[in-house]
Order: sequence, then C-alpha cells, then structure tokens
Amino acid sequence: MKVGFVYDDRYLLHHREGHPENKYRLEAITEGMAERGLFSKVELIKPFEADAELIALNHDPQYIEEVIYSSRSGEGWFDPDTYYNEYTFLAASLAVGGVAGAINEILDGNIEGAFCAVRPPGHHAEYAKAMGFCIFNNVAIGARYLLQKGFERVFIVDFDAHHGNGTQHAFYEEPRVFYFSTHQYPFYPGTGSAEERGAKEGYGTTLNIPMPAGTGDELYRHAYGEVLVSAVKGYKPQFLLVSAGYDLHTDDPLTGLEVSDKGVEFIVETICGLAKELSIPVLFSLEGGYNLDVLKRLVSRTVEIMLGT
Ligand SMILES: [Zn+2]
Repeated sequence: MKVGFVYDDRYLLHHREGHPENKYRLEAITEGMAERGLFSKVELIKPFEADAELIALNHDPQYIEEVIYSSRSGEGWFDPDTYYNEYTFLAASLAVGGVAGAINEILDGNIEGAFCAVRPPGHHAEYAKAMGFCIFNNVAIGARYLLQKGFERVFIVDFDAHHGNGTQHAFYEEPRVFYFSTHQYPFYPGTGSAEERGAKEGYGTTLNIPMPAGTGDELYRHAYGEVLVSAVKGYKPQFLLVSAGYDLHTDDPLTGLEVSDKGVEFIVETICGLAKELSIPVLFSLEGGYNLDVLKRLVSRTVEIMLGT
C-alpha cells in the first residue's frame, strides 16, 4: 500500500529528562526509519496544529483551556505520571492534527495507510482529564473525525500493553466505533476486563482481551489471528485505526508481557492483512513503548509490513 508517515520535530519539544515518555522515543524511531532507507518509500506528512474545535470532538472545552493555560505557565504535572511543559499544548495539538491530517490524505486518495509517529500519546486521556502520559486522545479524536465525515463503522485496535481506558470510555455506548484491546491485566490503569463489553446501543462493540503478566506470542497469535479477525469480519468496518503501543514487547521496562519481535510482526501483519482483504484504510498512531531499541526496530518493521516489504 501507499503509506504516509507523520512526523514533525516539534513533537520533541514536549519532554522531561528522566521520564520514560520522552523525546528520545521519537528520535529512535526516525533513526531506525533513516537507517533502513524508509523515508524515501513513504509520503512524509507534516501535521497541522489542531484547533480547539477539532480537539473538542472528544474533549471537554474547559479541559482544553486548562491544557492551554497550564502549558503557557511553564512546567508541571497533570497527574503523578503526566508532565507538561511550555510546549505541551503545541505538541499535543500537532499530535491530534497529525492523525487528522493523515486521515485527510487517506480520504483524498493520496495514500492508503499511515503511520503517525506522534507524541504525546493518547489512549489514556479521558474526556476531561490527562492521564498516563496522555494529553489528548489522538485516536479517539480521529474516530470522531471520521464519524463527522459520515463514516458509520470505525474499528479501533489497541495493542498497547496498557488498556486504553480513555478510548473505551469515549465509545462505550457508541455502536459506530468498535474498540478492541489486548493488554496486561490486572495492571495500570485497572480497566479492561473481559466483562466490559459496552453499554446501551454500544453493547458488543467493546472487546477486551486481558493478558496476565508473562503472556507471550502464543496467546497473542490466538487473540489476533482468531479473535480479532472474526471481530473485524463480523463488524465490517470502513476504516481501521490502530493504537500502536510497543510496550507489549518482552524488553519493555515498564510492563511484564513477553511478546517477541515475531509476535509484534504477526499482529501488524494480521491488521494489514485485514485492511487489504476488506480494501479499507489503516492508520497506526503511536501510543506507548519505552525501550528505545524496540521502538527503533519495530516501528520500522511496522512501516515495512505496511509497504508490503
Ligand atoms: Zn502502554
């Protein structure tokens, strides 16, 4: 497929030395892309700065104001995990605009898929609250943006090692967005049991596959090769959004799963295979992943698999 790659140096400005969610993550990713000669094979997409109206598709306007105001005032913390500095609003609005910009490129027919190397990540961000290194929920806003454009069935796959509480809550009663997540459980943030299936109109369009610490490739192969494939084929989505967190890898310092390179490649191959089979676009958006070597290697592999190489 023709692949877009979203990146901007301004994503590096949101940074705190010593914090696991830091600028070195993206530097490792772009270094890996360059070493493998991938920048000449993708369409480089520069993100735009999302305005409050776009961000408000999934967030409380007062909370958006709070992020702008806090960020203007300098450095601090939204919660014990989630820092901000004077560039946080800029980077976070570029992360939202990166995903929305890639969607625009896809809808204009310029590319068929995209990898958005954005930060800060998004899937823990709630409607009115920053959480777990996340400021705005980039993927949830992407899904809302697609609904606004008239899409009726959007499928979100979240393979980050942590449950995407913010994304699940955003669409818990929304049948037009399916949320599928595999994650370590019990673990941060505490949500994501198999019993959480959605509510009201949205009952059945949330699917959690909790994984105990130590889970390796075999269970993941089943979750993606069998469960995801049948969920996607049953739902017949028009668009695939992926919360791509590489902290499920066995070498990640923050988590306890034991998924190998091969395991991650299988997940990405399965997702891209579904997109191809159903002739629908697929957009990956970076979430977690805190081992720099893993990010460097596996984001490049993800892009190569998207490209079909
Ligand atoms: Zn994570």
